[in-house]
Amino acid sequence: MEKILISACFLGEKVRYDGNSQRLTSSLIHMWQQQGRLVSLCPEVFGGLAIPRQPAEIQQESGQVLTCTDQDVTQQFFKGANQALALCQKFDIRYALMKESSPSCGSTSIYDGTFTQTKISGEGITSALLRKNGIQVFSEKQINALAKMLDELSSQP
Ligand code: SF4
Repeated sequence: MEKILISACFLGEKVRYDGNSQRLTSSLIHMWQQQGRLVSLCPEVFGGLAIPRQPAEIQQESGQVLTCTDQDVTQQFFKGANQALALCQKFDIRYALMKESSPSCGSTSIYDGTFTQTKISGEGITSALLRKNGIQVFSEKQINALAKMLDELSSQP
């Protein structure tokens, strides 16, 4: 059975920068949990950042990840991304369900680095690394597409 890497905050874990979760209520999540498919991680916490922590955004020109007070947390973000990849390799995971717009987990949009709540097209550090290594990353808006893909895979002879 295909396992799925999932952003830990979707499962109600209070790992967000503000100390909260981002629980995703969906019957699919419940079913996948029951099936033992889900492997969760928060790349930022795995990278060594605290809960709570200052919000951080990717700087468009430099690619650095800076907090709202200009602290450089690029290294921690890449460490977390590498941990996520290692987890996927350990469990042979080919699919990920990641929180949209996060500087780690975003898969089609991120904030633009100006801390003005402005979104642009782009990927978070972890999602980009996973994709580079052949893992398909879906956002919460694409959960039905992920379910369809898994269904198709399981019906293959
Ligand atoms: Fe959730 Fe990802 Fe942010 Fe961690 S880094 S709180 S898993 S969106």
